[in-house]
Amino acid sequence: MIKSDQHMHSSFSGDSQAKISDIIDSAVSKGLDIICLTDHYDPLFPCYQEGEDTIFDLDTKSYNEAAIKIRNDDSIQSRIKVRVGMELGIYPKIYDMCKDIVKEYPYDFIILSSHTADGLDPYLHTYWEEFDNPVDGVKLYYNEILKNVSEFKDFDVYGHLDYCLRYTTTTEEERSIKNYKDILEAIFKILVADGKGIEINSGGLRRKGYNMFNPSEEILKFYKECGGEIITFGSDAHKPEDVAYGIKEAYDILKGIGFEYIADYKERKINFTKI
Ligand SMILES: [Zn+2]
Ligand SMILES: [Zn+2]
Repeated sequence: MIKSDQHMHSSFSGDSQAKISDIIDSAVSKGLDIICLTDHYDPLFPCYQEGEDTIFDLDTKSYNEAAIKIRNDDSIQSRIKVRVGMELGIYPKIYDMCKDIVKEYPYDFIILSSHTADGLDPYLHTYWEEFDNPVDGVKLYYNEILKNVSEFKDFDVYGHLDYCLRYTTTTEEERSIKNYKDILEAIFKILVADGKGIEINSGGLRRKGYNMFNPSEEILKFYKECGGEIITFGSDAHKPEDVAYGIKEAYDILKGIGFEYIADYKERKINFTKI
């Protein structure tokens, strides 16, 4: 069994101070075989703290230089396979910017993620105040994912599919996919037809009061029912110690649902290994 963590952030991301060397040491100590750095590219994302306009711009020149160094460093690659990708925080206004950035360097792996919906950030309580019922806030979020997968094609997997749920309080009834089945089915049909996947992301597992993977087991099951087979594991670590967080539980959930393979990517090409 290959242990692969395909989603993590270093100090190239506006919300992480992790040194790449510390991330690699942590991954090696946890017995991982493959990691992929996926620093944030969310251009124009507003900064909520004073002093800066944006927080998630990526210095691609330095990032690409670091990527070349990592790829050519045998002392690193002989310990663990380290790949370099990107997490694009997509929304319609920046499709063209994202298309350009993906072409800029031969990245190994591209995660497409929604961190906003209709320009609003579900991380903030003001997002949820827009809706009488949180179900409508979740629908807005999934509908934007549907638009993104319909119109933007240069990516490999969609990140933390029900991420918006991390930042609101919902009952099991409100979270249930029966409220969103048609939208999710439309998303999965497109992903499957395009040969793209989703991830199981353990970031929410570390969030107090949420303590769940994204997406939920219910959504993962439905993805499989819709013909989905491509799935990666991502810790979404922003600190070295969180690399591989929850990987065993994630693999157990996937096996329980009936997924037999986990995916990793090199130079945008998929590789499957038995779970
Ligand atoms: Zn994300
Ligand atoms: Zn992330």
